[in-house]
Amino acid sequence: MKHVNVALFVPHVGCPNQCSFCNQRAISGKRTQVTPDDVEKAVQIALGNPDSKGGEIAFFGGSFTAIERETMIALLDSAYKFIADGSFRGIRVSTRPDAIDGEICGILKRYGVTAVELGAQSLDDNVLALNRRGHTAKDVEKATNLLKSAGFETGLQMMTGLYGSEDADSIETARKIIALRPDTVRIYPTVVLENTHLCELYKSGKYTPQTVEGAAALCATLLEMFSEAGIKVIRTGLHSGGDVEGEFVAGAYHPAFKEICESKIYLRKALEFIKANNIPQGRIEICVSPKAVSPMTGQKKANILALKELGYEAKITADEQVEKYKLYILRNERL
Ligand code: SF4
Repeated sequence: MKHVNVALFVPHVGCPNQCSFCNQRAISGKRTQVTPDDVEKAVQIALGNPDSKGGEIAFFGGSFTAIERETMIALLDSAYKFIADGSFRGIRVSTRPDAIDGEICGILKRYGVTAVELGAQSLDDNVLALNRRGHTAKDVEKATNLLKSAGFETGLQMMTGLYGSEDADSIETARKIIALRPDTVRIYPTVVLENTHLCELYKSGKYTPQTVEGAAALCATLLEMFSEAGIKVIRTGLHSGGDVEGEFVAGAYHPAFKEICESKIYLRKALEFIKANNIPQGRIEICVSPKAVSPMTGQKKANILALKELGYEAKITADEQVEKYKLYILRNERL
């Protein structure tokens, strides 16, 4: 069953940094900060929906654990009573890797936080420095290990196409993330937003953003790596709406970004299967899990058309028995 979660956006407050790509300082100037009363109101509204039972209260944006201590505790306190009375399953927060230590872990535990997501972005120190992250790969490792040993569901967020980053270091970052064994991962291709250092670099010709195509090809590889490692990817690409609305300048943003990545995975798998099994040109039936029928088909039937160019007339069939990112192909002249 899909639970209703309460998501509260806590912009830049408390963050000591100004990363190259982040314009939360600009956004936070325009947005009013979340107060304990706002938390209470948002939760009360959600409680009107019977599916909220078992959901989570999430504080996103900014660096939650770097917020001034009293304010952070007041926000947690406001949410915690709904955890204590069983209305919600837990609290989820996102923060910077260098804003986690033993004391913070203790506070988060006390107030019912169950999941912590860290903005790792890269595990390459050079890329981190070029993008003014203000922390190192070691900080990510230390914070991840601390959170895991304290029993939090631990998530890591990574970015592709950062200033000074190549596909190879993103793949290496994914390898290092896999070695850290987080519970979840989010993958965000870099987007150039107004009022950022990255925007200046872009406008002066010093930074070339990834294209949607380039980012999707890389993220397809990353998705497969995490899937093979048994690590759940809970987001690929920025959300449409709030995250980029009105601030977008350039970069790999597409509302259906994940589907584009998965289409690439399925086309690659189909071509590998055809090659490995010497399937001659003609009519074929590609069998995938029910959820994969759309990505196997591709946006505007892109995969069907690509196969057609190679001499294959493909029909896609759903098979409950087939796992994610797997498929098999039948040769079928009667289709
Ligand atoms: S740490 Fe997060 S909130 Fe702070 S500047 Fe960087 S991206 Fe923005």
